[in-house]
Amino acid sequence: MQMPLIGNKRICSMVNSMVKNRRIPHAILIEGEEGLGKSTLSRYIAKAALCDNENPPCDECKTCHLIDVGSHPDFQVVEPDGAQIKVAQIRELRVEAFLSPMSAGGRVFVISAAHTMNDSAQNAFLKVLEEPPANVTFILLAKSASLMLETIRSRCVIFSLSPVSFDEPDAISKVMALAGVTNAEAQTLLVSTDGNIGRAVNASKNETIFLSGVASNLLALAAAKDRLGILNCLQPYVKEKNKVTELIIELKSAIAREIKKKAMKEISSFTAEKLNFCYTELTNIQSKLDFNPSIPLVFCYIAAVLTA
Ligand SMILES: [Zn+2]
Repeated sequence: MQMPLIGNKRICSMVNSMVKNRRIPHAILIEGEEGLGKSTLSRYIAKAALCDNENPPCDECKTCHLIDVGSHPDFQVVEPDGAQIKVAQIRELRVEAFLSPMSAGGRVFVISAAHTMNDSAQNAFLKVLEEPPANVTFILLAKSASLMLETIRSRCVIFSLSPVSFDEPDAISKVMALAGVTNAEAQTLLVSTDGNIGRAVNASKNETIFLSGVASNLLALAAAKDRLGILNCLQPYVKEKNKVTELIIELKSAIAREIKKKAMKEISSFTAEKLNFCYTELTNIQSKLDFNPSIPLVFCYIAAVLTA
């Protein structure tokens, strides 16, 4: 199976060499904000540790499938009970960790949102880290390693996940596949979510967030006077007149925000005249949409206005 984590080249090669040499550390801390691939990476490592195949992880055997659906007896995910992971959950985990594994590969415990453990839960967990049972891998997922006690951090191999770059082809393909969008839309989603694949996929499901991302992207292209880029960005909506209307509304609110920024003397890539001109022209275009104009022509006009 191919490493499912996108970008993060150094981490991917470290994990792959750990897997190849069968030297998976007993405590791993994966840090990064929501959507960067913490769970994806933890499942890959769990499969690598427990897979029945000769070259793990195969992603085809029963073990790999059971890990995917979260029902392998030697793979456990601890989730917060309410807002926190409570000390009682960690005590339970400590007992479980010393039970013999059902399979040959040992056991893997993933602690999701490990940063929600309070100090007493973290201290309880520390006890099992100090004298870890054989053949057990603990994978802690946290928003930030700095939210964990230093005594825990120092006993873990830490992987810090980063966002991907907007033009990373693998990232674009992944967003296209998961969100069912076009190449240009996937790029827009990645730009508007700062290269966070998980958030990009989520944003695709929310039309308003999605279109407001497209609008910000259009403004960035306008600042760069990239007329062709603007046309490419608009292209996916050529057959969707309804979305064109919504998009123009989003674009006008993005411009209105810039006008406000200008008024507050904040930095903007545009002059006040240009912003007002764009706003007025977009309002004109918006009113003409009722007369069924040719959408490609409308797009050319928008591109001309934005780059004027
Ligand atoms: Zn397998």
